[in-house]
Amino acid sequence: MNGVNMAHFALYSSALLVSITGIVFTLIQQRTDKLQNKIYLALISIIALNSVTQMINAIIQPMILTSDGAFFVYRVCDWLYFLFHAALCPIFFVYVSVVCGMGKFARLRKNLLFGALFIITELLTILNPFLHWVYDYSGDRVFVRRWGEAMIYIAAVFYLGISFFRLLSSWSALTAKRRLALIYFFIIVIAGVVMQLVNIDLRTELFAEALGLLGVMTSIETEDDRIDIDTGVYNRKALQNDLSTYIVNKRPVGVICIKITNLELLERTGSFDSSDILTTVVAAFLRTMVPRYCIYSTSPGTFILTETTGSEERAGKIAHIVSRRFDRPWHFGDTELLLNAVVMTSQAPERIKSAGDAFYMADSPIPADLDKKILSGRDLDYLMRRAAVESALARGLEEGGFEVYYQPTYTLKDRRLYGAEALIRLHDRELGNIYPDEFIPIAEQNGLIDDIDDFVLREVCGFIKSGDPSSLGIKSINVNLSVIECMQPGFVRHINAVTEEYGIDKSAINFEITESLAASSYELLSKVVKALKSDGFRFSMDDYGTGYSNMRAIFMLDFDVVKIDKSILWSAEESELGRIILESSVHMIRQMHRKILVEGVETEKQIEMLTALSVDYLQGYYFSRPVPKKELLALIRG
Ligand code: C2E
Ligand code: CA
Ligand code: CA
Repeated sequence: MNGVNMAHFALYSSALLVSITGIVFTLIQQRTDKLQNKIYLALISIIALNSVTQMINAIIQPMILTSDGAFFVYRVCDWLYFLFHAALCPIFFVYVSVVCGMGKFARLRKNLLFGALFIITELLTILNPFLHWVYDYSGDRVFVRRWGEAMIYIAAVFYLGISFFRLLSSWSALTAKRRLALIYFFIIVIAGVVMQLVNIDLRTELFAEALGLLGVMTSIETEDDRIDIDTGVYNRKALQNDLSTYIVNKRPVGVICIKITNLELLERTGSFDSSDILTTVVAAFLRTMVPRYCIYSTSPGTFILTETTGSEERAGKIAHIVSRRFDRPWHFGDTELLLNAVVMTSQAPERIKSAGDAFYMADSPIPADLDKKILSGRDLDYLMRRAAVESALARGLEEGGFEVYYQPTYTLKDRRLYGAEALIRLHDRELGNIYPDEFIPIAEQNGLIDDIDDFVLREVCGFIKSGDPSSLGIKSINVNLSVIECMQPGFVRHINAVTEEYGIDKSAINFEITESLAASSYELLSKVVKALKSDGFRFSMDDYGTGYSNMRAIFMLDFDVVKIDKSILWSAEESELGRIILESSVHMIRQMHRKILVEGVETEKQIEMLTALSVDYLQGYYFSRPVPKKELLALIRG
């Protein structure tokens, strides 16, 4: 290799190796379907091609003076180099735009403006063999620059400049990793170009660009932390990033949320792994509706699709087709499954103003009274109410808006006062009075239930400590416990600590828990009940007859009292079947040697019916509604 500039050759071949590494890894990870991936592949391929032409020229440089053929190849390589290299910065600009979430450029005029310089430089290069405006060769076949090359440099600086500007304007939409990778790319490319400008023998430009793009690959093009391992679709983090990017850029997208509502039930009855079904059949179906990279799963059984043209009509259509698909069974192996799903559609950025809004829609349970299968527009107002209640809960805890009411209970035999149930109320300055049926489930989901139940327990302890209840004949006060809370570690210790702080008799507190538990949790719950009972507390089972739990498991828990739900009482009045259910419930509970309380007693007639069945205790509006502490005392004294 006589006369070959080995330093040039080494740098060009290094650039080639690095860019080939980038291409190979992009291909083996199959990252080729997104627009962003395609543009990346174009960029790194340009570097590879440029490296090849420059390597060839480094080799044949010593021969061009003596051989016309070599000189021809040399000129072709130079020409190809300029042709591709002039496209690098404009394509990089498009790449940054896509990474920053601009998508396709909406307005043609803007496209033309941004594209004009690119088109001019490419035309100059294409015509250079005839016009020689970009570069030329002197009589002794030495490369000479012409004004056109300066133009290409100016264009490159322009495109890098607007790329940088775009990066800054989408700064908040980018993750730290992406910002760093792009900034690093700018720095290393500028360094490479400047070194080569200072000394033409330092051919660092291509190598620097290849390295910069490799960095971009490992941090921007990678998908590992964006994919849910169970279903192979994008995860919450990916949705968070992508939606934030769309929203920061004010780019309209349709957000379609699919919630499968019977997954838990199916898992409890059948012995299959739901994630398999979701991956193989449901996700595969969704891929026929939108591209792979527009499908996310925020939790098992909940999918979000993004409709990136932003057309509300298209989003509505997709929702319709998806919803219709769920009317038909899904085939999985040789089983056939019917999945129930509710499909919600909303638009960003008008209604979905942040990624958090989309998560809120995906995570909030759908109210039981909404019987539609597709929810959009005003149907989703419940989310606003829910958000308002959540703020009211936080406000209530902060500003003391919670109040404990008491509803007395009576013995059936002589209709004497027996006890009272503590029931929480929330008075909010914005929403007015809010009732526990609405806010307890929300508090259970967002974790505020701990503070609320703690507040109730402390109120009740204080009330008992005042001595008023016992002096009026109230033996114990019932406190509702959220089952979710009972399962938390340290719960038993906490309850004991609070009551001991007040120095009250533990048997004066009777905890109520509801039997709406998955069978798997009984073991833990029974341990909690056993521990608290051995400490002296009493226990009641609440809402008997509303759940679908395992009877044996229920009676293995050592309850003092079983509270028959008001719905059982009311339907006993209405139908023969209802009466049978009430009667047999009473017989069964009696045989288990538990005391029976019936709630929801509103009329004398109901009391007659219950007298015939000889239950133990009664509670209901017939005697009193839940009332504030003062009123309860006045009521009893009166
Ligand atoms: P629950 O434990 O079944 O409470 C009985 C509910 O029935 C109360 O509703 C009570 O006001 C109502 N009620 C009682 N007698 C009658 C009657 O004769 N007719 C009618 N129509 N209703 C009657 P409330 O106070 O709205 O509480 C609703 C639910 O919220 C409670 O159901 C309980 O599950 C939950 N809850 C209430 N306070 C607390 C609390 O401090 N902590 C927890 N975790 N849950 C609570
Ligand atoms: Ca209760
Ligand atoms: Ca109840």
